Amino acid sequence: MNTETKAHSTHWADITADKIIRERKGKDSYVCASGITPSGTVHIGNFREIISVELVVRALRQKGKKVRFIYSWDDYDVFRKVPENMPKQELLETYLRKPITLVPDVLGDEKSYAAHNEKSLEKILPVVGVEPEYIYQAERYRASKYAEGIRTALDYRDVIRGQLDAHRTTPLAEDWYPVSVFCTKCDRDTTKVTGRDGDYGISYICDSCGNSETVDLRNTSAVKLPWRIDWPMRWSVEGVDFEPAGKDHHSEGGSFDTAKLTGKEVFGHEPPVTFQYDFVRIKGGSGKISSSSGEVVSLADVLRFYQPEVVRYLFAGTRPNSEFAISFDLDVLKVYEDYDKVERNYFNKPENPKKLKKWEKDARIYELSQVRGVPEALPYQIQIRHLTTLLQIHSGDIDAVIQYLGVVPEADLEGFRVRAACAWNWVKEFAPEDFRFSLRKADEGRVELAEGLSAAVGSLGKLAADKLGDIPEKEFSNLMYDVIHEHELESGEFFIGVYQALIGKDKGPRLLNFLHVLGKETVSGLLGQY
Ligand SMILES: [Zn+2]
Repeated sequence: MNTETKAHSTHWADITADKIIRERKGKDSYVCASGITPSGTVHIGNFREIISVELVVRALRQKGKKVRFIYSWDDYDVFRKVPENMPKQELLETYLRKPITLVPDVLGDEKSYAAHNEKSLEKILPVVGVEPEYIYQAERYRASKYAEGIRTALDYRDVIRGQLDAHRTTPLAEDWYPVSVFCTKCDRDTTKVTGRDGDYGISYICDSCGNSETVDLRNTSAVKLPWRIDWPMRWSVEGVDFEPAGKDHHSEGGSFDTAKLTGKEVFGHEPPVTFQYDFVRIKGGSGKISSSSGEVVSLADVLRFYQPEVVRYLFAGTRPNSEFAISFDLDVLKVYEDYDKVERNYFNKPENPKKLKKWEKDARIYELSQVRGVPEALPYQIQIRHLTTLLQIHSGDIDAVIQYLGVVPEADLEGFRVRAACAWNWVKEFAPEDFRFSLRKADEGRVELAEGLSAAVGSLGKLAADKLGDIPEKEFSNLMYDVIHEHELESGEFFIGVYQALIGKDKGPRLLNFLHVLGKETVSGLLGQY
């Protein structure tokens, strides 16, 4: 495997990496960050952030830089709303306003609802080559690791208020504090801060249970910073150099705007290099797919239909600030075909300098699409359409397809199996009806055909028994048309008869190729009965 880049690149990941190096001078190592609240299934739109960071991390590393790639789970966020479709709604309601890290896992046996959502993603990310260092905010906050950051925010209370008020229609109240407190008696954040006691003391009263007390930031698990202040505090603690954000955070006066100011003026941290990433739409069958994981399409859902390299290709091949769709309809085949073409081109560098630019662009996308390194030579390729035909002929038996092909190299078997499994899932769940077929069996007997047509189909059966596979396809085609003429049929009519006899439908895969794929024995077995 080759991990060196051989393309001179204008790819967005490389451009961002260069920008980081340019703007964060004098560093020998960079911190690239991503993160989310695990308050629901992490969906494919959230994945766009993670993969965008990973691509930039990869670009930096290929430029010889040391990088720390961190992923922060904001699991000390408050449980605001019971998601629909969740079991045990009544139980979950009793946890509202408590930290999500305390909410029980009603979907599995992880230690909390937050952990359930975290582990689901952490398990699957390595499949697409993404392996960040995870940071769990609840753990940090509860161990008072952010005590100094919280104290700083309290010291700069009025500065922060001014920064936030600049974008608010109603100003924050006079008695506002830049913290939220989970009551130590009932765990809810339904509290009101009543004052400070020295540098580290915070007094509060709880609206839910009436508890009032003074806690010390250095040994309490109760106090956290609200999102807009928590974010820049963590930038400064971790020394974050790069973090992208979605449209919602990047809007005018959004949390990135205020975090930039708070980071600089309160925590003394230059804002990280960033870019905005856009939404990912789902095209074709989203209703069907989302039922598997609640309301949203997750990375795990996408990986059932797209092999990992193709998933990376979709994201690496699109600029982060443009919206794109992940398709589950016939476009799936087109995406695979595009990827295969980019792969073939990668191993066929053009001599012509005019063609070089386009080649370099695609070559870099191909490199970034690889889960591990780039293969030394063109891997075995199978056309996705051909694969779906073979799988249907063999009723989804991947081993039977491998045996039939007989040419898949040992080194490419694993990748072949992954692609075949995806293709078969797609055929079963999303392929249009006229795309799907299952081969009839000789012992099922004949389908009803008009007399003349039946005789013609029988003649093709005899022809197949004599010659199919023994002579060039073109020559077989000529002989097949002789059969059609002898029986004085229209070719369209004849094809319907043949497809009916083979798969019980009027249409199917391109006939001549289909006959050759099926082979002499199968074709003559099915058509010979007429
Ligand atoms: Zn309470």
